[in-house]
Amino acid sequence: MSTQRIAALEGRITDVMRHVASEEGISVEEVRDALVSGEAAIPANHAHTSLKPKGIGKAFTIKVNANLGTSLACNDPEMELEKLRVAIKAGADAVMDLSTGGDMEELRREIVRQSTVPVGTVPIYDAAVRAYERTGDPAGFNPIELFDVIEKHCEDGVDFVTLHCGVTRSAVKRVRDTNRTTRIVSRGGSLLANWMEREEQENPLYTGYDQLLQILRKHDVTISLGDGLRPGSLIDATDSAQIQELITLGELTQRAWDAGVQVMVEGPGHVPLHEIQANVVLQKSLCKGAPFYVLGPLVTDIAAGYDHITGAIGGAIAGMAGADFLCYVTPAEHLGLPTIEDVHEGVIASKIAAHAVDIAKGKKSAIERDARMSKCRADLDWPGQIEMGLDPDKMKARLADKLDLENVCTMCDKLCAMKVFS
Ligand code: SF4
Repeated sequence: MSTQRIAALEGRITDVMRHVASEEGISVEEVRDALVSGEAAIPANHAHTSLKPKGIGKAFTIKVNANLGTSLACNDPEMELEKLRVAIKAGADAVMDLSTGGDMEELRREIVRQSTVPVGTVPIYDAAVRAYERTGDPAGFNPIELFDVIEKHCEDGVDFVTLHCGVTRSAVKRVRDTNRTTRIVSRGGSLLANWMEREEQENPLYTGYDQLLQILRKHDVTISLGDGLRPGSLIDATDSAQIQELITLGELTQRAWDAGVQVMVEGPGHVPLHEIQANVVLQKSLCKGAPFYVLGPLVTDIAAGYDHITGAIGGAIAGMAGADFLCYVTPAEHLGLPTIEDVHEGVIASKIAAHAVDIAKGKKSAIERDARMSKCRADLDWPGQIEMGLDPDKMKARLADKLDLENVCTMCDKLCAMKVFS
């Protein structure tokens, strides 16, 4: 079976490309060209039949991902499916099922079945849970089992998979040698590093990369090259281990493209404001313009409880510098599994960042929406404002007891500027 990248390279136009072109308000040739250059990816597994594809990359609006999924300590599949619905309603452009508890296979299939947005997974979590249940050690998986799990996720219809192929032995040695404060904060990165040090072998996702690409190509699953050595604190940001991994990810990006596989590259993490732009420039240069999927970034380490705001600040700056895809952060970050309300708040916070960048980058639909909102404000058109708002339910809830549409807003009362100077 072909991939969207192979079709584009052959000059073909697919229904998936047409859908994205129409959603973005650009020509289908622009979509195809972005796939050819690798500056865009459209994660769209052949088996994900409920999908309405989304374009991720330079030519498109900034996209937002919401993470959900069970944990070993908190396993409520119905709640995770509700999070899926809430995330999509709030405007998430993709979701990642990061489940590590309960019947993960059944939940993954149900999420793919119900999701209209692309679904991503981190298959090594699945392999680690299986290993833990069998041996009591999450890093007790074997490479064959890991590859089988990856193939299973592809068969189940996920559209993109995070694989930490750039966590090499020498990069892990660098983490040790440089005495990082927060060592390795990526779950996938830590599992692979543990396995490599114990087995004294290279990362199987690195040595078996060609085999991996064959599996992904068969299903047109986009590889999201994970940043297993991303900094987990400002003090570790942009250090040599992170950059060494990024250099490897650049090489792996080209190899994936050569195999016809679509690519995104993941990025940090915890980064101070003044280093975000440099991080994006480095990624775009080393990975030849491949879509950059940033996890936040979080611009301070001390805001637990408010990290959706910390992440949105970082996401806006990263987006302005060229990042394409923002992974949301919820108020529960660093504290626990997000609640349904946390998921909603996290998506809205990242959507604000993405929308602000779209406006600044001249995206017509984004600019027009704000202009319509302003007109409604000037006209004191409250239903219109609710329609244009990012979170209509929240606006409605706040206005619920205001029956007098002439005097809805209580801020200035008789001094309402819109009435005084109409
Ligand atoms: S009362 Fe004040 S804040 Fe409210 S709509 Fe009028 S000018 Fe705006």
